[in-house]
Amino acid sequence: MAVVQEKELACKAFLSGSPKKLLIGGKWVDAESGKTFETLNPATGEVLAKVAEGSKADIDKAVKAARDAFENGPWRKMSSYERGRLLYKLADAIEAHADEFAQLETLDNGKPIRESRYVDVPQAIETFRYYAGWATKIEGETVNVNPDFFNYTLREPVGVVGQIIPWNFPLLMAAWKLAPALACGNTLILKPAEQTPLSALRLGELACEVGFPEGVINIVTGFGENSAGEALSRHMDVDKIAFTGEDKTGKKILEASTGNLKRVSLELGGKAPNIVFADADIDAAVKGAITGIFFNQGQVCCAGSRLFLEKSIQDEFLTKLKEKAEGLRQGNGMDEKTQIGPQVSKEQQERIMSYIEAGQKEGAKLVCGGERPGGDLAKGYFVKPTVFSGVNNNMKIAQEEIFGPVLSVLNFGSVEEVAEQANKVAFGLSGAVWTKDIKKAHKLASQIKAGTVWVNCYNVFNAAIPFGGYKQSGYGRELGKHAIELYTQIKSVWVDMS
Ligand code: ADP
Repeated sequence: MAVVQEKELACKAFLSGSPKKLLIGGKWVDAESGKTFETLNPATGEVLAKVAEGSKADIDKAVKAARDAFENGPWRKMSSYERGRLLYKLADAIEAHADEFAQLETLDNGKPIRESRYVDVPQAIETFRYYAGWATKIEGETVNVNPDFFNYTLREPVGVVGQIIPWNFPLLMAAWKLAPALACGNTLILKPAEQTPLSALRLGELACEVGFPEGVINIVTGFGENSAGEALSRHMDVDKIAFTGEDKTGKKILEASTGNLKRVSLELGGKAPNIVFADADIDAAVKGAITGIFFNQGQVCCAGSRLFLEKSIQDEFLTKLKEKAEGLRQGNGMDEKTQIGPQVSKEQQERIMSYIEAGQKEGAKLVCGGERPGGDLAKGYFVKPTVFSGVNNNMKIAQEEIFGPVLSVLNFGSVEEVAEQANKVAFGLSGAVWTKDIKKAHKLASQIKAGTVWVNCYNVFNAAIPFGGYKQSGYGRELGKHAIELYTQIKSVWVDMS
């Protein structure tokens, strides 16, 4: 197997510096409790590194450091040009260590190295560069309403920001959070997911090296509930929480935020409809369905997990889909040839298996997969690419987010019917339509209640294009100019001119 040998690893030095520490006020420190936790390689179950287990006491320290940096540090006095330059430098530093980041991401999360290398790392770099450009373009306005007064608006940073991120795209989610918050002049505390803390810590090292002032970026690794994540969302001196993760966690964070009414933006789960009409380019749509659900092992909030096929193409489509799904090379993500890796943890693997069981119990037909692979892969947290046909939109596997490589295939007869079924779900993060008929495409694009609709493509992203949810997929838009709204607030200044 062409797995990169340990001696060749670009991230070896970083991994050998375990236990990893917390970044607070520009210094790397142990947790106040002295506790650490292990982060595992999901392909093998082996320990990759030990990491400091931050808790409320560490969050308190980090918030203090961020507040001090916001109110009194050089960050506040720095020009927007200088802030932008620091973001450009951080992007350059990630690029200079691109291999190292790709390896860390694959080892910690399990995803295929080809995805880490060609998607996660370059998109993280792009995000930092995109927002580096924004730093100098954040503006207020003047409004002439009355000659007796001069009014202008200031667009100011929100202040101290807490950012809680998930484990599916650890570096990229850190970039989506950090880059706009920093461009706008905030200071922050990042809480990476406990399953995948490593790339964020390496990012923190580079941020220190390129010269971000101390306390501007603080990183506290640890757990969520009753721990670091919850302490951050409850903290009375945090002005805003930005969260990406499960809908249930988002609701808890919202409740925890009420103490000081901090601003909250939430990017939560999805159950995206991927709709294929008979007039579509079928081979392209099959590929789109495969990427839609199996990219990143299905651990994607915008995964196309409900595939709606027009009745007349169902049989042909399913035959092609099965062949492609069964042909995916599953293995250790460090193998260059791997197309689908392990799930992030044993817990996720078990959760997915319980959904597969539920699908079978509810009467859906297993087209392929449905089990854990054996042999070499048995020690990792793998689930075979799984397709269910004959799914009805009320079934659990059609309504709940599985966050794994499990596709539910449904069928439809008309545009009206599919639009209604597509929207009959609690989520609204994304959707897709495959057709050559532009009227149908635009009609559905407007009817689907979701923050992103792809037409004849899937999983296309760009740092300049907003992303976020309708309904229970959350609120607020990340990326593009819309993220500037999340991290700034407006002040109106009235001056008497009479
Ligand atoms: P998952 O269940 O898939 O791990 P979560 O939404 O629970 O997804 O986790 C996403 C992030 O939220 C992680 O960083 C996790 O530690 C954090 N988290 C989990 N529970 C809470 C909570 N009650 N308060 C704040 N953060 C939390």
